[in-house]
Amino acid sequence: MRILVVEDERRIADFLERGLQGAGYAVDVAPDGNTALTFVGATDYDLIILDIMLPDIDGLKVLERIRARKAGPPVLILSARGAVDDRVKGLEQGADDYLTKPFAFVELLARVRALLRRGQPAPEKLQVMDLTLDIMRRKVTRGTESIDLAPKEFGILEYMMRNKGRPLSRTMIVEHVWDMDYDGLTNIVDVYIRHLRSKIDDRYTAKLIQTVRGIGYMIEGPESPAVAKPAEQAFEPQV
Ligand code: CA
Repeated sequence: MRILVVEDERRIADFLERGLQGAGYAVDVAPDGNTALTFVGATDYDLIILDIMLPDIDGLKVLERIRARKAGPPVLILSARGAVDDRVKGLEQGADDYLTKPFAFVELLARVRALLRRGQPAPEKLQVMDLTLDIMRRKVTRGTESIDLAPKEFGILEYMMRNKGRPLSRTMIVEHVWDMDYDGLTNIVDVYIRHLRSKIDDRYTAKLIQTVRGIGYMIEGPESPAVAKPAEQAFEPQV
């Protein structure tokens, strides 16, 4: 999950960046409206946190331009302006939620999670065979065993489980789990996959993380329902 924070006040931007990264999200920061629009044009964000008073373009104008594109991500307005008029204006222009500064980080995080859930009507739990990932509680279990994952490991596993059965390239994984400050090599993914395998696969007979040669990785149970069983094929209509 990748979040764009549009905020000119460095202290607040740093605070949001650290907090959200700690919660397992990839975070980019844009210090003004034009940078924000450039970023939005180049990257598919899952959520945008938008300040209103920016040094160049007004945040509401930025919002208007984001909304002019089809299928934009949810937008949470974060502003010192607490007046009812501003809230209404922001929501009318297509913001999904509104939080006034100063704010408590736990409240922001709760709203961020709610918006991400709304934007993606995925179940709160992802499942591949006996592997379960609880998005809200950020817990992973295989069978009855609870597994501790570092934030990036969790991010990769969540991304893979959301795309169960779909081969993902290293670049796709990096783009979803790391932010743009990361300019290292995509083979960092191999290192993390190795960690993940040692935690969720190595001790089990059925291996869930598959290497897809020439592409990258995919998660899938050996008995995936995506693969049609011979018995089901018997019901094909006669021609
Ligand atoms: Ca500001």
